[in-house]
Amino acid sequence: MPQEWNDLAQTIPYRLAPSMAKDHPNLPVEKEEGCYYYGVDGKTYLDFTSGIAVTNVGHRHPKIVAAIQEEAGRFTHGPIGVIQYESILQLANELAEIMPGDLDCFFFGNSGTEAVEGALKLARHVTKRPYVISFNGCFHGRTLGSLSVSTSKAKYRKYQPAQGMAYQIPYYATGDTEEQAIAKLEDSFASLFAHQVSPDEVAAVIIEPVLGEGGYIVPPASWLQRIRTICDEHGMLLIFDEVQTGFGRTGEWFAAHTFGVVPDIMAIAKGIASGLPLSATVANHKLMQQWPLGSHATTFGGNPIACAAARATIAVIKEEQLLDNAKQVGAYAKQRLNAMQEKWPQIGAVRGIGMMFGIEIVDPKTGEKDGDTAAKILDLALEEGVLFYFCGNAGEVLRMIPPLTVTKAEIDEGLAKLDRAFT
Ligand code: PLP
Repeated sequence: MPQEWNDLAQTIPYRLAPSMAKDHPNLPVEKEEGCYYYGVDGKTYLDFTSGIAVTNVGHRHPKIVAAIQEEAGRFTHGPIGVIQYESILQLANELAEIMPGDLDCFFFGNSGTEAVEGALKLARHVTKRPYVISFNGCFHGRTLGSLSVSTSKAKYRKYQPAQGMAYQIPYYATGDTEEQAIAKLEDSFASLFAHQVSPDEVAAVIIEPVLGEGGYIVPPASWLQRIRTICDEHGMLLIFDEVQTGFGRTGEWFAAHTFGVVPDIMAIAKGIASGLPLSATVANHKLMQQWPLGSHATTFGGNPIACAAARATIAVIKEEQLLDNAKQVGAYAKQRLNAMQEKWPQIGAVRGIGMMFGIEIVDPKTGEKDGDTAAKILDLALEEGVLFYFCGNAGEVLRMIPPLTVTKAEIDEGLAKLDRAFT
């Protein structure tokens, strides 16, 4: 590593909060482009994380860079409600065209967490009901409100988030048949309503349509559809947290399209602006108009440069037919991963849809989930030159989320490196 980097790395323990960085940088990079990071060590690293489902069109796509430069040449920021930029209005129109069902009205924020906070607030305001139901293992953010509906990791709960706001029920369990899953779901709601909370006090049910941080679990469409009808039966709003699944990850614009379920409110972020901070709480016009002016606001939300990047991102996904690529190259990647599972007993399961996969690592002797081995494989894969990220309660799942632009050759390259890590 160059001397300047070594010198700089010495300041990390003093200058960055421990919760923000280890005492050494994991992978110091000097450039990123397409599907690759270029390390200061001179090595090239294939990126199978997409910055955690953010850079869906690849790093520094020329059209995104051009859009950012052009907008930054004219604007950076103005006070919301006073200054109006063309980019935010155009973006809202373009987003409305790709959203599921009648979701056509947007409150722009800066992060996934903020979009979720907005969704919870909107649901409680509109229904005048206090409670929310969420699913075990789901992750919705780290602020106290969003944490109160998040249970993906026990350690997050130690901050005692908004207590008494949320009730949890189990997520779809892998291995259950559709009938079993739906029966369990109905029982969970029935038991909750019988013993803990009356449905007419529940504002909303919030769910990740594909479980992300909690371990990449894909439920059957019928299970999600049944949640939709249960919500309708009780006047509860359905919130989809599509922060991770949005913008092509599932092979469609949103998981809502994939599963044929239209929620009342959606939270979107991550892939929306290819790395610039932007998110949105989305609902239909009728619902959103009940949120009074000024009762919820943000300083930076809908920043013109981020909006320009988002418009370019949507255009690139369309022009390069990346939803099709996610489906086709994704199916190829799944096949290759299944073949690896045959070869390596440490791979207990391969789950996923579109271009999002979880490789669950187990102890071959006991079949137990094995977070320690997963961490080792992650490090070894990095040494080989391919980046994965972890998820699951014990970090036992290797998450593989390449850019939607990824080619079969890049999948082959990355999986050959992963294979060497297993070796
Ligand atoms: N919701 C989901 C499903 C996520 O995966 C995340 C982040 O990983 C969030 C919310 C929080 O988003 P952010 O980190 O942008 O606040």
